[in-house]
Amino acid sequence: MKNGQISHWKARPDVDAPRFPAVEAGFDVDVAVIGGGLTGLWAAWAVAVRDPSLSVALFEAETIGYGASGRNGGWLSAKPVGLRPVLAKQPQGRAGVRSADTILGKSLDEVVDLLGSDTIDAKRSGWLQVARTASELERATRYVDKARTWDISAENLRMLSAAETTERVVVSDVRGAIFSPDCYRIDPVKALASLTGLAVEAGVRIHTGSRVSELTDAGLVVNGHQVRVARQTVVATEGYSSWEKGEKRRLLPMNSAMVVTAPLSAADWAQVRWDGAECLSGSAHTFFYAQRTADGRIAIGGRGKPYRFSSGVDVDGQVDSGTVESLGQSLRDLFPGVSFELAHAWCGVLGVSRDWSPFVDVDADAKVTHVGGYAGQGLTAAYMGGNLVADLITGRDTELTRLPWVRQRPRRWEPEPLRWIGANALYKAYSWADHIESRSKSTSTAWPARIADRIAGR
Ligand SMILES: Cc1cc2nc3c(=O)[nH]c(=O)nc-3n(C[C@H](O)[C@H](O)[C@H](O)COP(=O)(O)OP(=O)(O)OC[C@H]3O[C@@H](n4cnc5c(N)ncnc54)[C@H](O)[C@@H]3O)c2cc1C
Repeated sequence: MKNGQISHWKARPDVDAPRFPAVEAGFDVDVAVIGGGLTGLWAAWAVAVRDPSLSVALFEAETIGYGASGRNGGWLSAKPVGLRPVLAKQPQGRAGVRSADTILGKSLDEVVDLLGSDTIDAKRSGWLQVARTASELERATRYVDKARTWDISAENLRMLSAAETTERVVVSDVRGAIFSPDCYRIDPVKALASLTGLAVEAGVRIHTGSRVSELTDAGLVVNGHQVRVARQTVVATEGYSSWEKGEKRRLLPMNSAMVVTAPLSAADWAQVRWDGAECLSGSAHTFFYAQRTADGRIAIGGRGKPYRFSSGVDVDGQVDSGTVESLGQSLRDLFPGVSFELAHAWCGVLGVSRDWSPFVDVDADAKVTHVGGYAGQGLTAAYMGGNLVADLITGRDTELTRLPWVRQRPRRWEPEPLRWIGANALYKAYSWADHIESRSKSTSTAWPARIADRIAGR
């Protein structure tokens, strides 16, 4: 089994986005974008398309999609980004949250149209969150009820019975599921490669192997060279943002690990069904997420080791053996009787802000915009965030620029060792709660999870 090498998606040489020249001398540019993930690429593309007279350069420290954008589960979904009650505290109130939900819904089709449905293996599969204990079912039902109070209709989100769920996918011990049609299964790196092509076509100058070390009054320092920025610098480094002075505690790099199997046999697929390739997840506190890939594998992810001391990140996606074993066990629990060969394991970090909600923070004096904080829901959010940033830079007043996402970055996370103790203790509490719930007939959420939710502010 392969381990690391960034991800299964990126380790396929015929599919990966191309490399670009590294910065070897200083130059002048109108708009500089830091980070070659989905947010940086969408922002750079959107600025270049809106105003072709602006010169736009994108700087990526490693390769395109080195971060979460090249390692994710491939759910392009309209799931809410951030916490609705938090965003509703912005001046736009509940109307702002509803507007974000509406834009998320229509962004899905826009992304697929722009990147090419066949090019990125897109399938409008919907997402299916299975409940396998009494308390999971109760929580799932409550989730749907709560969504109704935010005007999410049954057309967009509904409960399925155990029998209806099993008609779609055969998961052990299933008691019901939440289903939403608003999700595409995609191939993350095919999407990145397609988007990179669009950005280049729009005139964006891309540099990989080009690490930004510092923001200065004149612009930024890349590979030791000064790049002068006339209009705006966009910082889109999400879970990798601790490079910037004073920002180490701003976004918590939350780890998530994945494994992908070798292609399953036709007999195994007949047993599992899953013909609709719904993006699949669980309702446990330490949940899993999975996709049936276009080439007949299962890619499944879960938290693994949640957080590394002092906002650390992995080495090229390498995963410890305990996490690989537990993801393999999740597969065997979900689909007993199916034989799995694990082909590749990897991990990555997502960026979590202190209030678990996204931001687009414009510092007009410094001419710097920070964008991110999508936690685990970044694929559609990156498209919205990138376009929003471009609207702001080109001086437009749009439905995006009126979203409650446009706000100051939330306060910092706690200093170490509190951050490390807190993140890991919460995860332990959630695992413990899952253990209690799996042995109980009670519908109530186990107390360690209730306390953890309160401490985490979720
Ligand atoms: C394992 C995993 C599974 C996920 N699954 C899903 C999913 O199924 N659906 C979903 O919606 N979301 C998912 N997410 C979240 C989603 O992938 C991210 O929210 C999204 O990709 C963030 O994109 P980004 O461009 O903002 O950040 P990133 O993709 O992390 O890009 C940041 C980039 O900045 C670069 N960088 C950092 N520092 C510097 C510097 N100093 N100079 C230059 N470049 C720098 C990094 O190398 C990196 O390439 C998942 C995340 C992970 C880790």
